Amino acid sequence: MSTPQKFAVVGGGLSGIGAAFALHRAGHTVELLEQDSTLGGRCGFGTLGGTPIMLGGKNIGRRYHELRAFITASGERAYEPFGINSSQVVDGRLVTLDNPGIAGFLRHLLRTGSPIDAARMLYYGARVRFDERNRYLDSDYFGRLGTAEDSAALSTRFGHEFSRTVLRPLTVRLNAAEPDEVYPGAFGVSLGMVQDRYDQLVDGMQPVLDWFAGQVPVRLHTRVERVVLREGRVAGLETMENDGRTTFSGYDGVVLATPAHASARLLGEVAPALGKMLGEVTYYPSTVAVVQYARPLFSSTVRSIAFDSGPCSAAGVYGVNDLDIVRYTFSGREARPLPDPAQLARWVDDAEAKVCGLLGGPTIERLRTETRSWSAAHCAYLPDHAGFRAGLREQLRAVPGLQLAGDYLLGAQLEACYRSGVDAARALTAR
Ligand SMILES: Cc1cc2nc3c(=O)[nH]c(=O)nc-3n(C[C@H](O)[C@H](O)[C@H](O)COP(=O)(O)OP(=O)(O)OC[C@H]3O[C@@H](n4cnc5c(N)ncnc54)[C@H](O)[C@@H]3O)c2cc1C
Repeated sequence: MSTPQKFAVVGGGLSGIGAAFALHRAGHTVELLEQDSTLGGRCGFGTLGGTPIMLGGKNIGRRYHELRAFITASGERAYEPFGINSSQVVDGRLVTLDNPGIAGFLRHLLRTGSPIDAARMLYYGARVRFDERNRYLDSDYFGRLGTAEDSAALSTRFGHEFSRTVLRPLTVRLNAAEPDEVYPGAFGVSLGMVQDRYDQLVDGMQPVLDWFAGQVPVRLHTRVERVVLREGRVAGLETMENDGRTTFSGYDGVVLATPAHASARLLGEVAPALGKMLGEVTYYPSTVAVVQYARPLFSSTVRSIAFDSGPCSAAGVYGVNDLDIVRYTFSGREARPLPDPAQLARWVDDAEAKVCGLLGGPTIERLRTETRSWSAAHCAYLPDHAGFRAGLREQLRAVPGLQLAGDYLLGAQLEACYRSGVDAARALTAR
């Protein structure tokens, strides 16, 4: 008889939840360890006037098949459409692109760039449109593209104007990065994002995670300090509990579902080469302010605006049924370093004045504000992802019992994170 296996997953974001749920479903004993007081990680749970809100990742694409299957497993959940309704300020003018269709999109591309830019964008777009795999970082096509062309940033493939007005809203939204800070090999992930349509859960993600915590043992307030190896393979984890005690827990295998920089720290002593590779993955900061107004600031036709300059990269309604709640996102080069509270208050004032100016409405009384800053909010990956993955695989072979999950493996969107967790669980049990 084989000995029953006990696994640990470190990190209670969507990557860790994907890994832990897959291990649980496959009949293994699994524990999820999370340093914070709640699950969800960068979904960023908070409250606004006592009502639960999400300050981080919340919009769920229609093509988020695995994440949606997990949500369905938790019971019947209502979604409301969110859309990727985006008006854009281009040279001080508001341009609205709400599901423009292919002809409308082509007109937009030609207006903002050369025919070569438009043709290139459509070519890459078609690659993603007709092959689902190209929405993820590990696809063969974008992997090869990255190996061949990632010596220069994405911005160098397109004209300056096109880069500023078409690429920037994509890269800032998904990676909090400028087009000169991401690479062609990751472009499929951004294009996959714009080719999807979005919903959000009417009651947010919290009830789903509460259900999950009833299925899989979760240890909150538990900070993992390091991975412990014995005779070259994973033997367990050293953890720091909330009361400061350090303990060792033995496991047959571990999934590190933490951001690359956090996994690098956990592995630095025991697998320095692997830790070094993970430490090279790029992350950029972001700040979100959710403001509730006495009356709607936006209308149902213009629900969000992407800005091409200034620290506020986007402002938009919290949901189609919450036109009085506005979520301001501060990301990109002009939003670094993270603001202190006084500076953030000025940024919100300026962004609000810009929105009111563009929509032509009066200033509206603010009722309450909730903010959250992340110093490493969004993953912007690194050049030649295929080479990076090959290196990771080689390093992982040298540490039996260890697998990795996270936003840096398949992409930063919630679906990619969840899938990376499922893949890690499969790889762990396959060994
Ligand atoms: C503002 C914002 C908006 C976004 N909007 C969207 C969106 O609408 N749709 C979308 O698809 N994506 C969105 N994203 C992206 C998405 O939210 C993230 O990529 C995703 O949540 C990351 O999940 P993760 O599990 O990989 O990492 P995380 O959510 O960061 O989870 C990692 C967890 O590990 C824990 N941890 C770290 N170190 C340790 C340790 N040593 N011991 C124990 N625990 C540890 C952390 O506390 C954390 O809970 C958004 C991101 C941000 C920041």
